[in-house]
Amino acid sequence: MLIDLHTHSTASDGTDSPAELVTAARAAGLDVVALTDHDTVAGHAAAAEALPPGLTLVTGAEISCRLDGVSLHMLAYLFDPTEPELARERDLLRDDRVPRARAIVARLNELGAPVAWERVRELAQGAIGRPHIAAAMVEAGIIEDVSAAFTAEWIGDGGRAHVAKHELDATTAIGLIHDAGGVAVFAHPLAWRRGRVVPDAAIAQLAAAGLDGVEVDHIDHDAATRDRLRGMAADLGLLTTGSSDYHGTRKSCRLGEHTTSPEVYAEITERAKGARPLTAAG
Ligand code: AMP
Ligand code: ZN
Ligand code: FE
Ligand code: FE
Repeated sequence: MLIDLHTHSTASDGTDSPAELVTAARAAGLDVVALTDHDTVAGHAAAAEALPPGLTLVTGAEISCRLDGVSLHMLAYLFDPTEPELARERDLLRDDRVPRARAIVARLNELGAPVAWERVRELAQGAIGRPHIAAAMVEAGIIEDVSAAFTAEWIGDGGRAHVAKHELDATTAIGLIHDAGGVAVFAHPLAWRRGRVVPDAAIAQLAAAGLDGVEVDHIDHDAATRDRLRGMAADLGLLTTGSSDYHGTRKSCRLGEHTTSPEVYAEITERAKGARPLTAAG
């Protein structure tokens, strides 16, 4: 059983439409794929509609959070998408991305980088994010590739043109996810190459707040980091997952590059009360 619990579509900053994503997931030999777009469930219906036989869809989202001033991502699985409190927070997070992206583009323009807001807006078909701005910067010839945007010079965390987005307190997020019947897994907790990460004590604090698991096998964790995180998870009684964090052509990771064990997947579906995994009808 190949189980990949973290992917993005054009509903946020991936490049495959939700239908293309589930098709590609089956072609890659996956049995289970979770669609976890940033701060939105907008891709779920189209993914479910296009679900190929033999593939199970786990509905989810990757929620933008903050803890003690550090940005982090919380994966939420199989919550009830109509539960109003979590839906309201998701909408706030998604909607605030628009003025924030506009502010980043304005700063880039002040720095003399000719990025057109209209083009950024066009590149984002769903929840808008820095990858869309980075893509517009590449198109405009300002930088060579998308990764060059995520630096101190441009729009990396704390960079010259970086503007923070609205983020949900991580402890609050866990409560809201649970209240909506979902399961909460801390995404790439120690991905230090991307920016600041939380101290170990924060993971213990989130575990005490009911966190279900941590994503261990992830492209942004090296082998030593994975070992350390697995040890912490064992001590704290947390589930451990693995996933590709697939973004289509926007990142180098392949679908199924990292996977979650059938035992952990079974435990996640057992705990989830807000939605069931979906399989193709007929
Ligand atoms: P945002 O949600 O708008 O703050 O943008 C953050 C997103 O940008 C992350 O979720 C990643 O998908 C992507 N990202 C972060 N760092 C990098 C990087 N170094 N290279 C490419 N994409 C990145
Ligand atoms: Zn992303
Ligand atoms: Fe993430
Ligand atoms: Fe992600």
